[in-house]
Amino acid sequence: MGQPRSYDAIVIGSGPNGLAAAIELARGGRSVIVYEAEETIGGGARSAELTLPGFVHDVCSAVHPLALASPFFRTLPLAAHGLEWIQPPAPLAHPFDDGTAAVLERSIEQTSETLGGDAEAYRRLMMPLTASWEHLAPALLGPLRWPRHPLALARFGIRALRSARSLAEHFFKGERARALFAGLAAHSMLPLEQVATAAFALVLGVTGHRVGWPVPRGGSQRITDALVSYLRSLGGEIVTGSRVESVDELPPSRAVLCDVTPRQMLRLAGHRLSDGYRRKLARYRYGPAAFKMDWALDGPIPWQAAECARAGTVHLGGAFAEIASSERASAKGEHAEKPYVLVAQPSLFDSTRAPAGKHTAWAYCHVPNSSTFDMTERIENQIERFAPGFRGRVLARKVTTPAGLERHNANLVGGDINGGAQDIRQLFLRPTVRLYSTTAKGLYICSSSTPPGGGVHGMCGHFAARAAMRNSLW
Ligand SMILES: Cc1cc2nc3c(=O)[nH]c(=O)nc-3n(C[C@H](O)[C@H](O)[C@H](O)COP(=O)(O)OP(=O)(O)OC[C@H]3O[C@@H](n4cnc5c(N)ncnc54)[C@H](O)[C@@H]3O)c2cc1C
Repeated sequence: MGQPRSYDAIVIGSGPNGLAAAIELARGGRSVIVYEAEETIGGGARSAELTLPGFVHDVCSAVHPLALASPFFRTLPLAAHGLEWIQPPAPLAHPFDDGTAAVLERSIEQTSETLGGDAEAYRRLMMPLTASWEHLAPALLGPLRWPRHPLALARFGIRALRSARSLAEHFFKGERARALFAGLAAHSMLPLEQVATAAFALVLGVTGHRVGWPVPRGGSQRITDALVSYLRSLGGEIVTGSRVESVDELPPSRAVLCDVTPRQMLRLAGHRLSDGYRRKLARYRYGPAAFKMDWALDGPIPWQAAECARAGTVHLGGAFAEIASSERASAKGEHAEKPYVLVAQPSLFDSTRAPAGKHTAWAYCHVPNSSTFDMTERIENQIERFAPGFRGRVLARKVTTPAGLERHNANLVGGDINGGAQDIRQLFLRPTVRLYSTTAKGLYICSSSTPPGGGVHGMCGHFAARAAMRNSLW
C-alpha cells in the first residue's frame, strides 16, 4: 500500500462506522490509518452534484435522527469541526388521498392532534417511551448487554418485539395513526407482519419527539467532513482511492478493523478465518434493496397537504394496507405497483443545497435485492398522487439502481442499504454471535453488519474499536 511504517490499527473503509472506529482508536492513543476504496471519503454519508451544477444531493443518507441520538457521536466535538444540524419544523409528514396529512411533530401532543380519534392512544403509546429515551438509547444503539435500566427496556421490549401490524391494530382504531406507524416501521425493509418490526417504528417515532430528524447544513458529506477533521486532529491518517483486496497487502499492524459486510470479509480475509466462522459468514443474509432517485427542481414539491412543506421527510403510500403490501412485495421478489416511497426535501430548510428559488429532492423505494426493474415511473406517480404538478417542476433527475448503489459503495451488496437483513435473527447477533471479533487474531468487523445495524450513528465502529482495544491493543 506504499505506506512503509507500521500502525497500531488499520481500518478498511471510511463509512461513518470506519471513521468512528478510527476516532475511538486515535482518541485512545493508538496510531491508525484508514484505507478507502473510493476517491471520496464517507461511504453512506456523502454528497455530490448528482444532477445540475449548484444542486447538492445526498448520495445515500439524508436524514439523521440516529446521528443525533448516537451516544458515541455525542461525545465528539463535531460542531467545532464544522457540523451544523438543521431541524425542519416537523420531522415527518404522511399525506393521504383526501389532501390531509398525519404529522410527526416534535411535540407528542401536536402529533396526536393530527391522528383523529387515536390522539389519546398515541399519547399512551409514545409518552412513556419518549420519557425514558435517555435510558433506552444506550441499550438499543449497541449490542445486547445486561441493561442499566431493565424496567424501561422491558416496557419498550414488550411492545417492540411485536409486529408493526399487531401493535398498530392493537393500539389504534383509525387509519391515520395506523398509516403513520406503518411508514415508520417500513424503514425496517421487512414485511410489517414480522416480529420486531414495531421496534423500528417506536425508535424512529421516539427519536422524532426526542432529538428530531435533522439534516446537516450542506449535506450529509458534512458529517463525514467533521469526523475526518476530528480524526486528523487526533493524528489519524486516511488514504483514498485505495481498495484493499486482501488483508495480506496491508502494512504491519496489531489490529485490522473492516468496515465491510460479511461477503467482502470472506474475500479480504477468508483464508485467515476458521472453517466454521467462514461458513457462518457465507450464510449471512442480505435484505431488499433501495431504488433511489434525486431531482433538481424548479420550485418546492407542490404538496396538496400544506403540512408536508413543514417536514424534512415525507412518507408516501397512504394507508397501512398499501405500505404493508409494498413491503411484502419486495420481500417476495416482486415490485409494488404503488411503492412505499421515502422522500426527503432538505433544500426547503437549507439554502446551501440549491441555487436561489430552486430545490432538491431525494427519494427511494424498496425493491428485491439485485433488482434491475426500473421504478422511476412508479416513484414519480406516487409523488404526483400527493403533489399534483410535481413532474412539471423537474429540471433534471438522477436514477440510481441497486447495482448503481453497489458500484458506488461495495458495502451496498445487491443494493441492500443496511449491511444485511435486519430481521429478528440478524438484528442483535450480527453477523455472528462473535459480533465484532472474528476467529482471526487482531481482525475485527466494524460495519453496519454488526450491532446496532444500519444508519449513520457510528455505534458499530465505536464498539468494534473498544473490542479491538480490549483484546488486541491493550
Ligand atoms: C440510498 C440510501 C439512503 C440512506 N438513508 C439513510 C438516512 O437517511 N439516514 C441514515 O441514518 N442512514 C441512511 N442510510 C444508511 C447509511 O448510509 C448506512 O447505514 C451507513 O453509511 C453505514 O455505515 P458503514 O460505515 O457501516 O458503511 P458505509 O457507509 O457503507 O461505508 C463503507 C465504506 O467502506 C469502503 N470499502 C468497502 N470495501 C472496501 C475495500 N475493500 N477497501 C477499501 N474500502 C472499502 C466503501 O467504499 C465505503 O466508503 C442510507 C443508505 C443508502 C444507500
